[in-house]
Amino acid sequence: MTKRIFNFSAGPAVLPPPVLERAREEMLSLQGIGMSVMEISHRSKHFQAVLDAAEQGVRGLLAVPDNYRILFLQGGATLQFFMVPMNFLGSGETADYVITGAWGKKALKEARRCGDVNVIHSSAEGGFRSVPEQAELIFSPNAKYVHYTSNETIEGVEFKYDLDGGGVPVVCDASSNILSKPLDISKYALIYAGAQKNIGPSGVTLVIIRDDLVAAVPENQHSMLDYRLMAENQSMLNTPNTWGIYIISLVCEWLREQGGLAAMEELNKEKAAILYNAIDSSDGYYTGHADPNCRSLMNVTFRPPSEDLEKQFCAEAAAAGFDGLKGHRSVGGIRASIYNAFPKEGVTALVDFMQDFAAKNG
Ligand code: PMP
Repeated sequence: MTKRIFNFSAGPAVLPPPVLERAREEMLSLQGIGMSVMEISHRSKHFQAVLDAAEQGVRGLLAVPDNYRILFLQGGATLQFFMVPMNFLGSGETADYVITGAWGKKALKEARRCGDVNVIHSSAEGGFRSVPEQAELIFSPNAKYVHYTSNETIEGVEFKYDLDGGGVPVVCDASSNILSKPLDISKYALIYAGAQKNIGPSGVTLVIIRDDLVAAVPENQHSMLDYRLMAENQSMLNTPNTWGIYIISLVCEWLREQGGLAAMEELNKEKAAILYNAIDSSDGYYTGHADPNCRSLMNVTFRPPSEDLEKQFCAEAAAAGFDGLKGHRSVGGIRASIYNAFPKEGVTALVDFMQDFAAKNG
């Protein structure tokens, strides 16, 4: 097999090798039909089976109740920043936003184009290191929905609970932690996630939306931005990302074989703990970014003692076969993204490297 390196990319990110191998096996002929999945009509029975498998895969893993639709859209999570308010926030109406990092800020900016937005919590002043407790959140009277980001990919800050809207519909950007653990879907009105971290390749956005929201979409929406039309057409109003949906079906199968999301959560906790322990036991050499009670299981963010050492760390790590560790350009530092498919051996290898680096450059 071609040698694989440890890929800590925040997304597009590492995919499970068995999924890549299966895709390779089926590249020329999907299940013996003599054509690849990229070469067949999305209206064919062969692709319909792939779409059904992807949908059922997500539904089964997340135990999505029957009164929710599962959609595979395009435009990335970024389009959802706009599509959500465009469908559910009219002018003169209010939506609540909880801002715990850079992606939430972007979602907020788009929502402001549609209606009134109330930021009911922001951790910007503290440098986006924390998340609020449920009890701190006071929703606006008549809020159409409350929006939050369950895992802020850049800062590495994660909610450890499903936010309860107390009657206000909850909309969640779960791009970087969906499928990493079980979720209580019934607490949400709409969840969206770009696929390119835990679900599959880029170019597909998973949307899980409750039926009453689908029904509440106003008439005369632009077709491509209309959740109801997308739901009525089973995500195939136009040509969907057939390849992406195919890979999602395989990732779901792989996750089922691993024991599902409860098993993934255990493994993800174990992997993250190895890294956070290395940070905490470095005698202050490495500083973690997030407050300990909201440390992300997916994106582990930390800093060596200086910017020079940070550059040296990244260069030496790359030479040692660790890819993608440089923090996001907006915040710097080191970010180790360790999604579902990232192997535990890669985490222990990074910890060895970190200890070695600290000993040599202390
Ligand atoms: N939200 C979060 C939490 C993200 O991590 C990202 C991408 N890294 C986005 C939104 C934007 O996703 P996309 O590139 O699919 O538009």
